[in-house]
Amino acid sequence: MDFKWTTEHDAYRQRIKDVLKKHLPADWAQKSLYDNGSDFTVAFSRTFCPILAQEGLLIPHWPKEYGGGGMDAFHHWILNEEMWAEGEPRAYQYMSINWVGPAFIKFGTEEQRKVHLKGITSGAISYCQGFSEPNAGSDLAALSTRAENTGSSYVINGSKIWTSAASFADYCILLVRTGLQGRGGITVLVVPMDTKGITVRVIPSLQGARAIHEVFFDNVEVPLSALLGEQDKGWGVVTQILSNERIGAPRYALTWRGFNRGIELLKQHGRFKDTDVQAAAARCQGALEAAKALALRVIDGRVKGKPADAETNVARYAAVMADRSVCEFLGNYVPDFIFAADEPMLASAYKRTASIGIAAGAAEVQLNLISRNLLKMPREE
Ligand SMILES: Cc1cc2nc3c(=O)[nH]c(=O)nc-3n(C[C@H](O)[C@H](O)[C@H](O)COP(=O)(O)OP(=O)(O)OC[C@H]3O[C@@H](n4cnc5c(N)ncnc54)[C@H](O)[C@@H]3O)c2cc1C
Repeated sequence: MDFKWTTEHDAYRQRIKDVLKKHLPADWAQKSLYDNGSDFTVAFSRTFCPILAQEGLLIPHWPKEYGGGGMDAFHHWILNEEMWAEGEPRAYQYMSINWVGPAFIKFGTEEQRKVHLKGITSGAISYCQGFSEPNAGSDLAALSTRAENTGSSYVINGSKIWTSAASFADYCILLVRTGLQGRGGITVLVVPMDTKGITVRVIPSLQGARAIHEVFFDNVEVPLSALLGEQDKGWGVVTQILSNERIGAPRYALTWRGFNRGIELLKQHGRFKDTDVQAAAARCQGALEAAKALALRVIDGRVKGKPADAETNVARYAAVMADRSVCEFLGNYVPDFIFAADEPMLASAYKRTASIGIAAGAAEVQLNLISRNLLKMPREE
C-alpha cells in the first residue's frame, strides 16, 4: 500500500496539535496521568469538548445536517490519533462521537436525535455502554438482563459488568432481553443513569481510577420512548455500534509514544546496544506500522462507502498484536521505568496495552470472525 497524507490532512493535523497545545494545561501529564476516567480528565473534558465544538473539531465526520463538519473518515481518524496520543482529553466523550451519535443518526427518533445529538455536539452529555454481563461477554447474544414492556414503560432487572465510565456517564446505551433467547430477542434502551433502582460499583483496576464498573438494575422503570430502534431488533444496532467501536480508537497512537519513550530511556541509560533489545524493538516497530496501515485500509474503505467486513477484524487483531508486543517489550526492557512517578505517559501506555486483547472484544473472537468471514474456512456443523 502506498500511503501518504495530503497537505490538507497535514494542515488539519497541525491545527489539532495547535488547539491541544493551547488548551491542555502545562501540567497535563501529572494531573491527568493520561487516564481518561480520572476525576481530573472527566472534569477537564466538560470544558474541553465545548472548545473543540467551537473549533469545529468535535464531530468533523458527522453529516452537516446533524451539526457535523461533513468531513471524511480520515479527518476523524487524524483527530482520534492526536487525542489518543494525549491519553484522550475528551475523556469518554470519544465514544459518543465514534459510535453513540452515529447510532442515534441511523436508528433514533426525531425526538431522540434532538436531545442526544445536541448534547453530544455541545459536549454536554456523556454515555456508557451496558453490553457485557457476567455470563455474556464474547457471547453477547446470551445476555439475560431483562426488560418487561408493560404497555406504558419498560421495567428492567439484571446486571452489567466491565462498564467503562458508568460512574460519571449521563446515559447508558443498554442491551436488554425483551424476547426469546438469542439475537432475535434483544432490544437497545437509552437509560438515564440517575434513574431510581440503578446501583453502580467501581471495580478497582490497573486500567485507571474508574475504568470499569458493575451496574445493577433493580425494577428500573423507563418510558417506552427510551427504545432505540425497534423492540427485539436491537442486534442490528449492536452490529453497527461494534463495527464503529472496533476501529474507533487508534490505540496504537499512545502505545507508539510509550514505545518511543522506552527506546529513549534505553538509549539514555546505555541499554539499547544489546542486539536482542534492538531486534525486539524492530518487531514492535513492524507490528505498530502494520496496525496503523491496516486501520487506515479500513478507514479508506469507509471513505469509499465500502460496507464493514472482516478487514475490520484483521485491523483490530493487528492492533492487539502491536499492543501486546509493546507491552512485552516495555515489561522486559524498561520494567524499572514503567511505573516511575515521573513517567505517567509511559505508565498509561503500558497499562492500556495490557487490556486491549479483551476490552472492546476478545482477540480470539476476532480470529474466529477472520477464519469464517475472510478465509471462509469450513465450520463444524
Ligand atoms: C478495560 C475494559 C473496558 C471494558 N469496557 C466495557 C464497556 O464499557 N462496556 C461493556 O459492555 N463491556 C466492556 N468491557 C468488557 C469486554 O467487552 C469483555 O471483557 C469482552 O467482550 C470479553 O468478554 P468476557 O470478559 O465475558 O470474556 P469471555 O467472553 O468469557 O472470554 C474469556 C476468554 O475466552 C476466550 N473466548 C471466549 N469465546 C471464545 C470463542 N468463541 N473462541 C475462542 N476463544 C473464546 C476469549 O478470547 C477470552 O480469552 C470492557 C473490558 C475491559 C477489560
